[in-house]
Amino acid sequence: MTHKHILVLPGDGIGREIVAEAMKILDWLGSRPGIQWTIEEGLIGGSAYDATGVPLPEETVNRARKADAVLLGAVGGPKWDRLDFSLRPERGLLGIRKALDLYCNLRPAQVFAQLIDASPLKREIVEGIDVMVVRELSSGIYFGEPRGIETLADGRRRGFNTLSYTTDEIERVARRAFEAARKRKNKLCSVDKANVLETTGLWREVVSELGRRDYPDVTLSHMYVDNAAMQLLRNPRQFDCIVTTNLFGDILSDEASMLTGSIGMLPSASLGDHNALYEPIHGSAPDIAGKGIANPLATLLSVAMMLRHSLELPKEADRIERAVNHVLDQGLRTADIMQPGAREVGTVAMGDAVMKALQEEV
Ligand code: NAD
Repeated sequence: MTHKHILVLPGDGIGREIVAEAMKILDWLGSRPGIQWTIEEGLIGGSAYDATGVPLPEETVNRARKADAVLLGAVGGPKWDRLDFSLRPERGLLGIRKALDLYCNLRPAQVFAQLIDASPLKREIVEGIDVMVVRELSSGIYFGEPRGIETLADGRRRGFNTLSYTTDEIERVARRAFEAARKRKNKLCSVDKANVLETTGLWREVVSELGRRDYPDVTLSHMYVDNAAMQLLRNPRQFDCIVTTNLFGDILSDEASMLTGSIGMLPSASLGDHNALYEPIHGSAPDIAGKGIANPLATLLSVAMMLRHSLELPKEADRIERAVNHVLDQGLRTADIMQPGAREVGTVAMGDAVMKALQEEV
């Protein structure tokens, strides 16, 4: 194996706590024969603002560009909520996605059999859920210009954002989604609001054309986003792979995460043509930061995605996923997934249990 470079960005709030658990596993894997990597740590978000005056220092971008993979904790918190938008921690996150051109966000929502009863939905609805949400990540309304808040001549204020997609931006993420569907059940549902928004009318046109031309073997369907939000609760098992815009994907993937019981369980991968960033889908959870109770499993599962997609270590990825399953089988739970009869543990104990399961080759 060639020598790899990993950049770790713990960020804010629980970010540092959950990334510390990932580091234990990365350090241990890195000491094993056949695996060679260098791990560096960098600044992003509110902690970067405190140290440098900006949420995304140039140095972080440069190091991320050179890295084979980036692992991120989370950014944000009330301490920085009063800053100008351009300096907020979340701008750091949007900024790094844009700088690395990470246009494809893979968010798998799988229900762990052990956690079915932690879902707010009935067992018969969530059992067996395995949905992959492919969210466009570097364009759409989160990046469109013009944007801002202006004061009109009559004194009223007006806020505005722009939803825009070019055909190549739609095609490249749709292509990734068709490819992902091919590795799964060969079903892709493209979610838009083509009945109201011209931009997503174009989205539908481009996805349909690409499907007809290059992926005739994949069953493609289309759904309006309001219906998709409803269908995800009514009958989530109808979905295999979903592809959608930045804004719709943000919302639908959080909805899908709750089907599985906890936002603390879900990893994600953000892929571009040259770089990749892996992170849990949750935020910095300021309400529990510093208490040692955050669930580190979404971050450990993000490490598994990183090993599989960027570091050519699919067997090690499988091992981490097996180890996570094993600790759940043992009845260990952090507070967010606690169930009657289970044993509640904190962040460090959960990380240690996964590490022990890995070392024992479960
Ligand atoms: P959040 O995901 O941080 O928290 C939502 C709820 O889920 C909270 O009750 C929290 O305690 C809980 N939660 C989240 N992760 C958990 C974990 N690993 N273990 C146990 N419980 C967990 O979302 P929010 O409260 O809307 O946002 C808080 C801050 O995070 C904001 O500043 C927001 O902008 C930022 N944010 C960052 C990211 C990111 O870095 N990718 C994503 C979303 C929100």
